[in-house]
Amino acid sequence: MSELRRDPVTNRWVVIATERAKRPVDFKRSFRSTAKESDCPFCPEQEKEPPLASFTEKGKSKAVDDPNWVVRVVPNLYPALTLKEKISGLNQAGPYTSLSGVGVHEVLVTNRDHEKELGLLSQQEVCLVIEAYLDRYLTHKRNSFLEYMLIMVNHGREAGMSKEHPHAQLFGLPLVPSNVVEELIGVRKYHQKTKSCVYCDLIRYEKEQKERIIYENERFLVFAPYASRAPFESWILPKRHQPFFESLDQSEQNDLADALKTVLFKLDEGLNDPPFNFYIHTTPYKDHYNGLFHWHLEIYPRLATFGGFELGSGVIINTTLPESCAEFLRNFFPK
Ligand SMILES: [Zn+2]
Ligand SMILES: [Zn+2]
Ligand SMILES: [Zn+2]
Repeated sequence: MSELRRDPVTNRWVVIATERAKRPVDFKRSFRSTAKESDCPFCPEQEKEPPLASFTEKGKSKAVDDPNWVVRVVPNLYPALTLKEKISGLNQAGPYTSLSGVGVHEVLVTNRDHEKELGLLSQQEVCLVIEAYLDRYLTHKRNSFLEYMLIMVNHGREAGMSKEHPHAQLFGLPLVPSNVVEELIGVRKYHQKTKSCVYCDLIRYEKEQKERIIYENERFLVFAPYASRAPFESWILPKRHQPFFESLDQSEQNDLADALKTVLFKLDEGLNDPPFNFYIHTTPYKDHYNGLFHWHLEIYPRLATFGGFELGSGVIINTTLPESCAEFLRNFFPK
């Protein structure tokens, strides 16, 4: 019989359809995508005119154009949001509300090498990427009209990737996105009831149960969420209660790099380069939440498509047991 599971933060329901259950190994892709774009704008050797980078690992936040860059940030050529004007506040027209598209949209090129995904980089290289995330996060925090910075990665066409070269996108938004609001509300409600942090409680419980754990190191835990919305969904959480992503110290940056790299490498090798997204959820720039939130990184493999049931009900059917996916990744050690 299938089972309905409720997410303890958002209260969203997920159907774990064990009748139709697929084995983790059934998600393994038969081939890796090998097509290489002929003119990649992010490959150093194909650049005609390198865009002025706002970050390289050697000259943090300075407008530098170091030809030996490893990580760098460039403005998006077709930005969804722009920094041109001052925000004018909410506009109201009858029942409709709008806001001008003020914000930041940057591309963080993760590496010079076109083929090297984050999971294939060295620990030191992943640390540089995280350092760049933090740099951009803090740089844009100074823009008083920005409410939130979403750091995210699309990998694979099915995950919305438009340029193959490994990169992250950063969106500085003039609002707090609704998925984050939903989690903030959930965290606050849970705290009102129990006086504790729901994510800290999840960490404690998952460490006792062990069956959904994918990986852990001293400072981070990676597990498959109980109400996983997709096969192999994985959450990376700092073990100590930490509301702000930007407050990571050096040893936490190292452990985050290790956890992220490890789980992405396991996904890549275990399932043969599946499409996925990942993104960071953290306390909004203007903290009205008294440090209640617990920042985290969510990896969402795009191995299932939504149908009318999901759209109409908001309830997702997941055909794989999160415990089996966790077990598969936990015990998978790439050569
Ligand atoms: Zn490239
Ligand atoms: Zn916590
Ligand atoms: Zn989240």
